[in-house]
Amino acid sequence: MKTNSLFDPSYSWYRGNLHTHSTVSDGRLSPEAVVELYRNRGWDFLAFTEHGCMTRFTELSTPEFLVLPGVETHADIDKPVRCHHAVGINADAEGAPHLQALANAVSRNGAGAQEMIDNLRQQNYFPIYCHPEWSRVEWDDIRDVNGYAAMEIFNYGSYVEDNTGHSLSHWDSALRSGRRVWGVATDDSHQRKHDHCGGWIMVNAPELTASAIIAALEQGRFYSSSGPEITSLTYADGVVEVRCSPVKAIHFVTYEDRGGAVRAQPDEQLSEASFTLSGSETYLRVECVAADGTTAWSNPIFFDR
Ligand SMILES: [Zn+2]
Ligand SMILES: [Zn+2]
Repeated sequence: MKTNSLFDPSYSWYRGNLHTHSTVSDGRLSPEAVVELYRNRGWDFLAFTEHGCMTRFTELSTPEFLVLPGVETHADIDKPVRCHHAVGINADAEGAPHLQALANAVSRNGAGAQEMIDNLRQQNYFPIYCHPEWSRVEWDDIRDVNGYAAMEIFNYGSYVEDNTGHSLSHWDSALRSGRRVWGVATDDSHQRKHDHCGGWIMVNAPELTASAIIAALEQGRFYSSSGPEITSLTYADGVVEVRCSPVKAIHFVTYEDRGGAVRAQPDEQLSEASFTLSGSETYLRVECVAADGTTAWSNPIFFDR
């Protein structure tokens, strides 16, 4: 029997935010004050992703708290309100560019989005397509865009600002098209409202270094959350099993079959569930939904059919 786990039990768990602004772009607090905000809440790492400006802030890292190099870039769309944004995270905490401009895409629409993603990859950044729901992007606007490693499926800042934080349907469209795209929850914190520590990823990695975190990101060895914890996710012999902190419902989202949901009785909670695959699924991902609506989202398990 072959048991596959998304996580390595011998590794540690690190909580972090991959999307943050400071006074270097349009955030309200200095980088030092933002780091303090996250350290005080028990976060292990943070990426500053300033608009059009690559930073690394090596001097703000300590053995217990890692600041990852990052940047946010954009491309325009010829339709009212719509836009493409992407953040990039760099594995080189010592040598990535610092306080250097990154050109935004010159092209518009889908070609601009592609240029934006390609530009990040060329500069050695792990590219994440950001907040499609906030950007009012339809699947048609990005259906031909390739090469992004992850999509922002929950953006807490957008959730706080105008309730456009969730982009699950864009993610499922990407997955249904056959793309292998991870999902990330972030804050996109600007500190104008309470927009920090509401969306994060939990990374399963051997150590707290930029290269170990990026390696885990590339491999999908992490999950996203706005509250609950996922403690294990395995599959063997056609059965997927998940364990988590107490929640009200556990959803198994699949394609092309319909998946399923397990719901707790009134006044009860769940902390585990399993799902038997029909055999036609191309991927399965799990959502663990707490009583207050906060959710943990696993990455997809892909099945080669
Ligand atoms: Zn953005
Ligand atoms: Zn942003």
